[in-house]
Amino acid sequence: MTPVTRADLDSIPAYVPGRSFPGAIKLASNETTQGPLPGVAQAIADAAATANRYPDNTSSALIHALSETLGVPAAHIATGCGSVSLCQELVQITCQVGDEVLYAWRSFEAYPVVTKVAGATPVPVPLNAGQGHDLDAMLAAITDRTRLIFICNPNNPTGTALGREELERFLDAVPAHIVVALDEAYFEYNRSGVDGIDLARGRRNVVVLRTFSKAYGLAGIRVGYAVADPTIITALAKVHIPFSVNSVAQSAAIACLGARDELLHRTHAVVAERGRMRDALLAAGYDVPVSEANFVWLPLLDRSVAYGEASAAAGVLIRTYGVDGVRITIGDPHENDAFLAFATSEAAVELAGIRAGSPTT
Ligand SMILES: *Cc1c(COP(=O)(O)O)cnc(C)c1O
Repeated sequence: MTPVTRADLDSIPAYVPGRSFPGAIKLASNETTQGPLPGVAQAIADAAATANRYPDNTSSALIHALSETLGVPAAHIATGCGSVSLCQELVQITCQVGDEVLYAWRSFEAYPVVTKVAGATPVPVPLNAGQGHDLDAMLAAITDRTRLIFICNPNNPTGTALGREELERFLDAVPAHIVVALDEAYFEYNRSGVDGIDLARGRRNVVVLRTFSKAYGLAGIRVGYAVADPTIITALAKVHIPFSVNSVAQSAAIACLGARDELLHRTHAVVAERGRMRDALLAAGYDVPVSEANFVWLPLLDRSVAYGEASAAAGVLIRTYGVDGVRITIGDPHENDAFLAFATSEAAVELAGIRAGSPTT
C-alpha cells in the first residue's frame, strides 16, 4: 500500500537544486566568494570539538552579541536555522488553515512554500513596472483573513529597494494586528540607508529578518535572526524546532559579529562591482533595475530559460526564474567579466532580444 501524504503537497514544487559542473563559475546563489576569516574558521573548529553536547537552545551568547551590536534588547531577538526557518515560523505563529499571507511576486521563493506547508493561502501581488514592490496594490489586497505580509527589501530576485518614506507610509497603513516581516537578507549591501530595525521601533507588528548567510558569508552553516516585539519573539520560540540552531552556527555567528568591520568592508567591493556590471549591461542594451543587493536582475521574460542555459553552456551558472527573468550574483571581478563576456556576445544579445547599444527602457 502506498504511504499517504497530504494531497495538497502536490501543489508545492519539489526543490530543484541549481545545476553545477566542475570548473563552472557559480553566480547563482547570492553567496560571498570568500571563505570564513581565520578567526571564524577557528571558532567553527573549536565549536566542532564539543559536538557531542547539545547546543544552547536559546542561543543566549549569540543573542547577547546581537543585542550589543544592534542596540536592541535581547528580549527582542530570536535566532533561526537560517532566516528561511524564521519565515516558516512566522507563518506558523500567525496563520491557521485558510488564513492569508501576502507577498510581492516575484520575490523570495520560500514565501509560497512556507505558506502552503502551513495550510495558509498565498496571496502574491505582482511587482510594479519597475520590478519593485507595488505597495498600494499590496494594501488593496489585504482582507480580513490576512495575517502576515512579507516585504523583501531589497527584493530577491529583482534587487529593487524601497524608500524610507514609502515604506513608513505602508507600515502605517497596515492594520496593527497584521504582522509585517521586513526580510532584510541583503541589508548589508543596501546603500539606500533604509534600516528595518529603525522602522520596527514603536511598531509592534513589524518583524525584521536578517541572516549570516549573505554578507557575513555563512550560507553553509545556517543561522539567521529576527528582531521584533517580545510578544512575537515568545511566539516564535513556541514553534521553533528544538536545537535547530546548532552550536557551530552560534559560535561562527558570534565570531562574525566580532569581525564585523572587516566582513562589512568587503561589501564595498561588491557594491562597486554591482555598479560596474549594471553599467556594462545597460550599455549592451539590457534593461537592468537598480539593485541594492549582491545581484542584478534581467527581466528577460519568456527568453529567460534559453538565456540561462546558454550562460551555463558558456561556463557561468546564473539563476533562471521561469518566464520572468534571470538573476546574476555579483562575484569576483574575473567571474563578473566572464558573465559580461557572455552577456555582450552576439549570441546572448540575440537570445535576450535586444539590439546592442540600444537600451530597451
Ligand atoms: C537568502 C535569503 C534568505 C535566507 O537565507 P538563510 O540562508 O536561510 O538565512 C531569506 N530571505 C531572502 C530574501 C533571501 O534571499
